[in-house]
Amino acid sequence: MTDKNSSRPFVVTMSDGSTVPGMSDQNGARWSCPCGREVTVESDGFDVTGGKRIDCSDCGRRYFQQPTGDVFEMEG
Ligand SMILES: [Zn+2]
Repeated sequence: MTDKNSSRPFVVTMSDGSTVPGMSDQNGARWSCPCGREVTVESDGFDVTGGKRIDCSDCGRRYFQQPTGDVFEMEG
């Protein structure tokens, strides 16, 4: 159930309601930002209250990862 070597798919929910497939494995969670950049929680994310913020350095989209692992794009 918590095998560190297994990869786990998850879904990134964008602010317009569309979804982007993500993958989580021992190297971290990542997905392809709509701008084309691969966003990685380990290199782009930082801890905030209640979860993690992940900012795309290319387009400025801001994401939030909940403790459950679910990710959504922050509006605004
Ligand atoms: Zn981006």
